[in-house]
Amino acid sequence: MNKNVHQQLRDLPSVSVILDHLQSEVAQWGHDAVTNAARAHLEALRSAIQSGKSVSSDLSIIQQTIRDGLTNRSQPALKSVFNLTGIVLHSNLGRANLADAAIVAMNRVAGSANNLEYDLEQGQRGDRDSHIESLICELTGAEAATVVNNNAAAVLLTLNTLALGRKVPVSRGELVEIGGSFRVPDIMARSGCTLVEVGTTNRTHLKDYANAIDADTALLMRVHTSNYRIEGFTNTVPEPELASLAEANQIPFVVDMGCGNLIDLKALGLPHEAAAQQTLTHGADLVLFSGDKLLGGPQAGIIAGRADLISRVKQNPLKRALRLDKVTLAALEATLQLYRNPDELVSTLPTLRLLTRAEDSIRDQANKLAPKVSSVLGDHYQVDTASVSSQIGSGALPIEVLPSAALSITVANGEDEPLRALAARFRQLPKPVIGRLHNGALLLDLRCLEAIHEDAFIEQLSELTL
Ligand SMILES: *Cc1c(COP(=O)(O)O)cnc(C)c1O
Repeated sequence: MNKNVHQQLRDLPSVSVILDHLQSEVAQWGHDAVTNAARAHLEALRSAIQSGKSVSSDLSIIQQTIRDGLTNRSQPALKSVFNLTGIVLHSNLGRANLADAAIVAMNRVAGSANNLEYDLEQGQRGDRDSHIESLICELTGAEAATVVNNNAAAVLLTLNTLALGRKVPVSRGELVEIGGSFRVPDIMARSGCTLVEVGTTNRTHLKDYANAIDADTALLMRVHTSNYRIEGFTNTVPEPELASLAEANQIPFVVDMGCGNLIDLKALGLPHEAAAQQTLTHGADLVLFSGDKLLGGPQAGIIAGRADLISRVKQNPLKRALRLDKVTLAALEATLQLYRNPDELVSTLPTLRLLTRAEDSIRDQANKLAPKVSSVLGDHYQVDTASVSSQIGSGALPIEVLPSAALSITVANGEDEPLRALAARFRQLPKPVIGRLHNGALLLDLRCLEAIHEDAFIEQLSELTL
C-alpha cells in the first residue's frame, strides 16, 4: 500500500459522523437501515481506494450517495407503466385496468373492518360468496355461482370436485396451452382426473364423445380455444348437442369459456365472442371464466350454473385454498354492478373503452403527439404516425385485430441497436413506457393512452437520458 492509499482511507468519514448528518433519513427509514447503507457504502469506497482508484471523501457527496441509495430502495418494485404494446389485455402488464368504481370499492374495504363473512341481518357468520352470487346469477341467468382466485383455479376446483379419480373426455382440438404453465392436460392431471382425448386436432364429432363415455366418465368438458384457431377442414360439436349427450348420460357438461364475456360485442363493432348466458342457454351445466380478461375486472375465476353442482364445488376443501380476498371481491362486485347498465359500459369499463376507441381518434392523437415526441428525441430519430393493428390480448379473439395508430420511431441508418437502446430508456422512465420493436421501428401504439394520461406521458419524456 502506498501512502496515498493510507491517506485516502484515513480521510473517509466514520459511520457515526455520516449518521450525524443523516438524521432525517434515520427518522424516515430507521437507524439500522441507514447504518447498514453507510457501512456498505464505506466498504465500497475502501475497496475502490485499495484497488488504486481515487474517490471523493467529501462528506456531502457521500451522504447524497447514501440518500439516493435509500430512496431507490424504497421505490415500489411493482409500478404502473404505459402499455403502448397495442395488446389491450396484456397478461404480462396486469391485464384489465380496473374501473373507477372498482378502485373505490377496493379502498372502501381495504382499510376497514367489513362484513366479508358476516350476515348483518342475522348477526352471525356469513358466506363471502353471498355478496356476489346473486349478481352473477342475474347477469348470466345461472342458478348459482361461486368465485375463486382465477380461471385456472376454477378449472382445477371444478374438475377436482366433479371428476376426482374419474374420466373426462376432451376434444384433441381443445387441449390448449394458455401460456405460463396452464395446459389443459396438466391441470386435469393435477385435478385428479383422467383426460380421455377424443376426435382429432381438426375434427371432432358427437360420436367421438359418445364412444368415449362409459360408467367411469365424470363429465363432458369443452375448452374455449382462446389463443389459436383451427381453420380449414374442421368440425366441432355445437354446444347444444354436447349438452344433450351429457344429459342423456346423466353427467354434467362443463364449459371453460376462458375470457368471460357477458355482452354482445358485435353490437359495439368488436368481433363476436360467446357470452356466458348464451352458453348456459345452450345447455352447459357450468361455465367457468376469468375476471380480468374481457370482463374487465380483477383477477378472479367465476363458476356459474346448476345449484347442486355449485354447492358441491363450494364444499370442496380446496375452495378455501383458492378463495378470493376481500379487496378482490369488492372490485369484482363493483365491476359486475357496471354490467347492470350495459349502455354505459363503453365509458365506465376501461377494457371496453380502450377496445372500442375509434381508429380516427387514435390517429389524431398520434398526429398531435408525434411533433412533441420528436422535439424531445432530437434529430437523430424520426417520429411518424403509422397504421398498426392492436390486439385484444389474453387469448381473446386471437385472429381478429383492431385497426389503430402508433408513433413510429426510426433512425436514419435503419439499425436496430439504437432503437433497442431507446426502448430500454423508455422502460427506465419513472412510469415506464412499453412499446414494441417491429420492422426496424419502435412502435408506440396509442390505443391504451387515454387523453387524461397524455400530459403525464409527454412531461416525463424530458427525463429520457439521450
Ligand atoms: C385464460 C384461460 C384460462 C386461465 O384463466 P386465468 O384467469 O388466467 O387463470 C383457462 N382456460 C382458458 C380457456 C383461458 O382462456
